[in-house]
Parts: sequence; structure tokens; C-alpha cells
Amino acid sequence: MKRELTIAIDGYSSCGKSTFAKLIAKKLGYLYIDSGSMYRSATLYFLRKGYIGADNINVDAIIEDINQVAISFEMDKISGEQVTLLNGENVEAKIRGIEVSGFVSQISAIAEVRSHMVAILRSIGGNRGIVMDGRDIGTVVFPDADIKIFMTASVDVRAKRRFDELSGKGVSVDLEEIKNNIIARDLTDENRDISPLRRADDAVILDNSRMTIKQQMVWFEELLEKYLDEN
Ligand code: C5P
Repeated sequence: MKRELTIAIDGYSSCGKSTFAKLIAKKLGYLYIDSGSMYRSATLYFLRKGYIGADNINVDAIIEDINQVAISFEMDKISGEQVTLLNGENVEAKIRGIEVSGFVSQISAIAEVRSHMVAILRSIGGNRGIVMDGRDIGTVVFPDADIKIFMTASVDVRAKRRFDELSGKGVSVDLEEIKNNIIARDLTDENRDISPLRRADDAVILDNSRMTIKQQMVWFEELLEKYLDEN
């Protein structure tokens, strides 16, 4: 390969962005960054602080404290998987639960939360080969990314995949609840004022409703080949 690329993968909730992004990073020997885990970690932090209630979110307190939220990533020695650290604590399992999922889109719509995370994401990106997934990577975080992919799949397929993933981890979940959470998050993410979820004009769409991960990797390899031929 000629040089290290920046690959941005955006799209709807539970499309399998992280599975796909992780495999691409592994294949190319790049760093993988899951930006959603950062917004999830911030949400966990503010839940613990008591700033998030069912009927009320204390936005002023969140803005005041956002600089206390430090996120980093490390390789878990046992699983060999990358895990998210919130102020040094491994929160990987805690940020995937339904409580964090229920509030994360409201927290990620706060401008000061977004600018804090975008600064961290850009500082991690730097000049090395990176695969980053999220909602605004190709539009805001790295608008000059070399390859931009926008992922989508039907809501039913996405809900079933999320259900299987969480059930497989032993989390007790309800399919209908997951489906409603996915629909609600997409709606909030698409309609927020700052950095809404949308496809960058130069992003290639990948609808993986009927594709296996193997087929998605073949699709990516063709895309990469085409990119390298043209650049
Ligand atoms: O990707 P994941 O589903 O873990 O993201 C959780 C939430 O974090 C999204 O629903 C969205 O509200 C927010 N997010 C965001 N921008 C990103 C990544 C995630 O607003 N780049």
C-alpha cells in the first residue's frame, strides 16, 4: 500500500459498523476507533453523576463537567479485544446496556459534548492508518478521509442482530425494546442541529441487510482496490 489511509464508516444504529470496521483495521494493520463508545462512556459518566433523569437532563451540569470525561482505549489481555476506558476504568460492558443506549442520543446532541469528543477523535487520528466508525466521521471529524462508507440495513435486521449480540453476552433483552431504541436513536441522531447523522456526498453506500460479513469484506476489498488504482 502506498500510504496509510483514513477510513470513515458512518451509518445507522446497529448496522454492524464496528464488526466491519474492526475487520478492515485488522486486515490493513490499522488502528480501529469506535467513536460511539466515547459518547456512550460520557453518558455513563453523567448517569452516575445523577445528571440524567427520566424526565430531566441537567445540560448545564453536563457542560460544566464535560472536561472531566477522559476516554482511552486498550487491548484486553484476556479477550484480546479492544476495550473502552472511562477515566481509566474499563467500562466496555457497562456502556452497551439498555440504560446507556436509552440516553446516549440526547447526550450526544449537546454541542459541548460533541466538540470535546471531536477533539479527542482528531488527536487519536493523526497521521497513521485508521478506521473510525460513528455518525459524523466522514462529514465532520475527518471530512478529508480517503475512503468513506455509509452503512444501512433494514430496522428488523438490525434489531435482530443487536438482540442476538446482547443475548449471546447473557444480557436479558426484549426484541421490541431494542427495535424501538434503534428507531428512536436514528431519529434523534438524524434530526439534531449539530453534526446530524447523514451520508457525506462522497461516501459509498453499503446496505448489508442481506450480506454476510464475508460478503461485506469482499465488497470492501473491491472498493479499496478501485481507490488504490485511482489514487
Ligand atoms: O455507534 P453506537 O451505536 O455505539 O453510538 C451510540 C450513539 O452515540 C449514537 O446513537 C449517537 O447518538 C452517538 N454517536 C454520535 N456520533 C458518533 C458516534 C456515535 O453522535 N460519531
